[in-house]
Amino acid sequence: MKGSLENCRLCPRECGINRYERTGYCGEGANIRIARADLHFWEEPCISGKNGSGTVFFSGCALKCRFCQNYEISAENKGFEISVKQLATIFLMLQSKGAENINLVNPTHFVPQIISALELCRNRLNIPVVYNCGGYEKTETLELMRGYADIFLPDLKYYSNKLSSEYSKADDYFEKSLKAVIKMREIAGKPQFDKHGMLKKGVMIRHLVLPNHRRDSIEIMKILGRVFEKDDILISLMSQYTPVYKAFQHKEISRRTTTFEYESVVREAEKYEFEGYIQQKSSADTAFIPEFFDYLYFDLLNFTADTDL
Ligand code: SF4
Repeated sequence: MKGSLENCRLCPRECGINRYERTGYCGEGANIRIARADLHFWEEPCISGKNGSGTVFFSGCALKCRFCQNYEISAENKGFEISVKQLATIFLMLQSKGAENINLVNPTHFVPQIISALELCRNRLNIPVVYNCGGYEKTETLELMRGYADIFLPDLKYYSNKLSSEYSKADDYFEKSLKAVIKMREIAGKPQFDKHGMLKKGVMIRHLVLPNHRRDSIEIMKILGRVFEKDDILISLMSQYTPVYKAFQHKEISRRTTTFEYESVVREAEKYEFEGYIQQKSSADTAFIPEFFDYLYFDLLNFTADTDL
């Protein structure tokens, strides 16, 4: 297996623990656990397309942000255990349902097992693989995904160490995530689309504009403008912040982002002429948070019956 679980240093937390015996900061041991696998239609159009993105939500997280919309699976570690072979089966099942891609949501702490699953099905999997993460990554772990991930979809959440420390207990977030997105660009190359406008390769950086922190967002845009050429990456600026989970313990982020705040960040991003997506404010609603723990096992068992990996 690529990457060590016995002395886990897969993410910048670098716990150095044996995940066969205990869990680290991410809350996950050596067995893969997921909360949902299904077609997902609410990613950016070049990811979801007509048929939906074949999304697998992994349980646990090394960030556990206080405003996380998926906190039940990231911070509370809800989910169920599956084997490497079952994960490979799920990838093929999603492909057979017409998925535009395989979308690995929060995959960092399961990279070794994901690579083993992709190895099992790589001769039959012919859609792009998307590495969809919170941006808090080690370049060494990203390097393991070379040849396995086609598209990187990282968040770039904060510039300020004070904010990343307060909301994600990671005072080195920006330093690590900037190195990570540069590495992703090196691995994936410039964005490439097919004739239907679907992204086949490249990096799309997501940034969620937080209430009362537009200056932090603007600083991120400035740095991206300095580091990347306009055709190096795509940018997805998200406005759908909705206070959930522990956000209410922080007065400044316990409301939605205003149109003024969001548009001031959009104006800064436009200066650098990056291609990408600007979100409608109408999608700022918890209705867009997917339901977890549904019918996966039923589909999976049916599919496994005629799948020989
Ligand atoms: S993946 Fe989990 S156990 Fe490994 S270093 Fe990161 S937080 Fe710690």
